[in-house]
Amino acid sequence: MLTIGCHLSSAKGYEAMAKEAGKLRANTFQFFTRNPRGGKAKEIKESDVKAYAKKAEELEIKKILAHAPYTLNACSAQESVREFAFLTMKDDLERMEYTPGNCYNFHPGSHVNQGAEAGITMISEMLNQILVPEQSTTVLLETMAGKGSEVGRNFEEIREILDRVTLTEKMGVCLDTCHVYDAGYDLVQDLDGVLTTFDNIIGLNRLKAVHLNDSMFGLGSHKDRHAKIGEGKIGLEAIVRIINHPALKHLPFYLETPNDLDGYAREISLLKEHYKE
Ligand code: FE
Ligand code: FE
Ligand code: ZN
Repeated sequence: MLTIGCHLSSAKGYEAMAKEAGKLRANTFQFFTRNPRGGKAKEIKESDVKAYAKKAEELEIKKILAHAPYTLNACSAQESVREFAFLTMKDDLERMEYTPGNCYNFHPGSHVNQGAEAGITMISEMLNQILVPEQSTTVLLETMAGKGSEVGRNFEEIREILDRVTLTEKMGVCLDTCHVYDAGYDLVQDLDGVLTTFDNIIGLNRLKAVHLNDSMFGLGSHKDRHAKIGEGKIGLEAIVRIINHPALKHLPFYLETPNDLDGYAREISLLKEHYKE
């Protein structure tokens, strides 16, 4: 069965997200742990978590994916920004234990003139200060489009971070199809080749989730502008190959396309139609 969902608002809590996912005929979803522009997180209610667990079972919602705020930058040149990244991720991972066994995705960061190497060092040091053996959450590095000074613009940079994290078994990767295409990996003409490269550099065993997006701009554009499924440069045919690829088809797919809820429902049903069991 295809595991597919989309990004949902977490403003009304976990049970509300499960219900919304159910309406969209999704069996997973992604959500922000707090305001994507930063700030304090809403308190998690025990009663909401319990109601969520029941709903999730009823609707057969499997793994869900939390997304860190965009403002989280572990490799900023400013100490206060790095401190915010540290405190936010630490707090988020403690909160994730209310819903154990899921994944937490974050953008590695932007090094802003300090160089990728310095960025990689700061990111991996932060992870080494935060990750604990008891946690049940897997932390995912998102593959980035390489806009500005983003770290994670290629598979090598992701690999470098993973190599330097001590509790490496707590780490994984989330592949964003728009980002990877924008970064210059040709998912359209050579999906097998891209996945072989991923396997050789990072290892496909590290891949835990896919952000399924079309891209408004072309291969290697480094723009990071998501498009609706089939309306971008990747196109429906290539996206159908992605969800059906033997190396990917078991993974959870999350839509982050520019859609309202009806638009998401349409994309979810379109992708289910094209999925080969
Ligand atoms: Fe993201
Ligand atoms: Fe993404
Ligand atoms: Zn993006």
